[in-house]
Amino acid sequence: MSNGKANLIGASLDEIEALMSGLGEAPFRARQIFAGIYRRRMHSWDGFSEISKLLREKLEERFSLDYPRILQVFQSADGTRRYLFEVPPGQRIESVFIPEERRDTFCISTQVGCAVECLFCVTGKLPLRRNLTAGEIIGQVLALQTDRGAIAKRLNIVIMGMGEPLHNYENVMKAIRLMVDAQGMDLSPRRITLSTAGFVPGIRRLGTEPLIPNLAISLNATTDRVRDLLIPINRKWNIAVLLQACRDFPLEARRRLTFEYVLIDGINDTDEDAHRLARLLKRLKKKINLIPLNPDPWVPLKPPSAERVLAFQKILADSHITASIRRPRGDDVSAACGMLAGREQARESGDHLPPKPAKPSVLAQLQERNGSGN
Ligand code: SAH
Ligand code: SF4
Repeated sequence: MSNGKANLIGASLDEIEALMSGLGEAPFRARQIFAGIYRRRMHSWDGFSEISKLLREKLEERFSLDYPRILQVFQSADGTRRYLFEVPPGQRIESVFIPEERRDTFCISTQVGCAVECLFCVTGKLPLRRNLTAGEIIGQVLALQTDRGAIAKRLNIVIMGMGEPLHNYENVMKAIRLMVDAQGMDLSPRRITLSTAGFVPGIRRLGTEPLIPNLAISLNATTDRVRDLLIPINRKWNIAVLLQACRDFPLEARRRLTFEYVLIDGINDTDEDAHRLARLLKRLKKKINLIPLNPDPWVPLKPPSAERVLAFQKILADSHITASIRRPRGDDVSAACGMLAGREQARESGDHLPPKPAKPSVLAQLQERNGSGN
């Protein structure tokens, strides 16, 4: 709501139809408005030239078309752009635009903060403030598209920004349904990837949907001992339970799961880890993304050397597993994986302090694990 008006960004066709019928308007009006919002990216009523002035005034009085407000855009040397948005009540979220040769990728957020509290992730240092609405989720895409201008290239959406998307299931699914609607944005579900830290009930529920995006799992460790420390929800849904949910997940022909593996110096990057990873994922249709940790003053961990990353990849390759190494994008403006925290400055300015430093006991356990192997 803004100025007491209901915001139609995020509304489904059914919802717009109900609102129009309340105004005594025919269903075709709702279809016009739906296409105007999601296909033509209208964000004021003036642009709807096919609607009479009288009705436009009526709509203007009752409904707004507000995207999340862009506070700042940070342009990286590599072309990546980090968008800082404000959402009510004065909270901050971020999205990232990543240009690539043959496609553009938008990385969008689903929550303000995150309850999972992964040790290596800056977002996880922020308390969970709230779930974003479907309108705020798809509104990030609309705002980026609008700011970007005409987009000739293919668009990929990765739901990998701030938050655990499966903790905000309903709103995320509603936003995905809007993204793929043929009358609206008309994106292919194959171009949408949802990444989860391994919230198993959400993975199982997603598997029952008529519409399923690509699924990426942030595995990040090969033993429960280490994963418990890195990703606290592993204590509830451990690696075996998570991988069983992955094996049960319905995959269309030629589709694969993605496993993300953030490589952390001395913690999960040993030869034994690589061999174990190959064994764990043996029977799955998959691809692996190796992500060298993006370091940050908020995170008490380091990335491995480039040689270690390549050695890890080689062990997987020798087991016939293709693993790509994700190079950091936008790291000079804090836009890289795990860096999103709604901060105004790039991290080099050093003017922010960790609100929730890692517990010394967790660090001690990790160090102990380092010394003693597994
Ligand atoms: N909550 C979801 C999606 C957002 S995090 C999830 O955890 O999957 C997106 C990705 O960033 C995850 O794969 C996560 O493991 C990775 N990530 C988090 N912190 C990182 C860091 N410091 N360096 C590199 N990748 C990181
Ligand atoms: Fe949340 Fe994902 Fe960050 Fe973990 S890695 S704290 S789940 S955003």
